[in-house]
Amino acid sequence: MKDKTEKMENYDVVYKIECANNLCDAAYIGQTGRYLKTRIKEHEININKALKITTDNLTVSNEQPQRRDKRRRHMIPRSPDRNASSAAITTHAKNFKHLFKLKEVKILHKEKKLNKRLILESVEILKNRNACNTRSDVDGINDSYKDLIQLNKIK
Ligand SMILES: [Zn+2]
Repeated sequence: MKDKTEKMENYDVVYKIECANNLCDAAYIGQTGRYLKTRIKEHEININKALKITTDNLTVSNEQPQRRDKRRRHMIPRSPDRNASSAAITTHAKNFKHLFKLKEVKILHKEKKLNKRLILESVEILKNRNACNTRSDVDGINDSYKDLIQLNKIK
């Protein structure tokens, strides 16, 4: 990717966004068939909205994600459907009052076919131990494959 503008003009991508908090290593993995800039803008709007609502009543805390479960410590327990699960980035921002490095989004894969893109997204979520995605984001992957992917997990 030559520059930011060019990167944002991409579509049919699997992407990764890191949490902007220095003390937090969470990352969000997502996919979109639309322009990356459009999806990033949506994340920005949702996060800003969520933080605005919560900061009205609460003070900003330095609370960190639970360290108990090292494997999946940033993972949010459950989400009713796949669409709602795309809000995992918003939930992390809201729960911890953290922003994300939206402008520094990394493109992990470029794949035109939606079903392949969803699989690539799930594999990346499983590979990244700090993914803050919900468990339903990897529902498309058979459990025995999940184990195989996690065996090769990036340290
Ligand atoms: Zn964070």
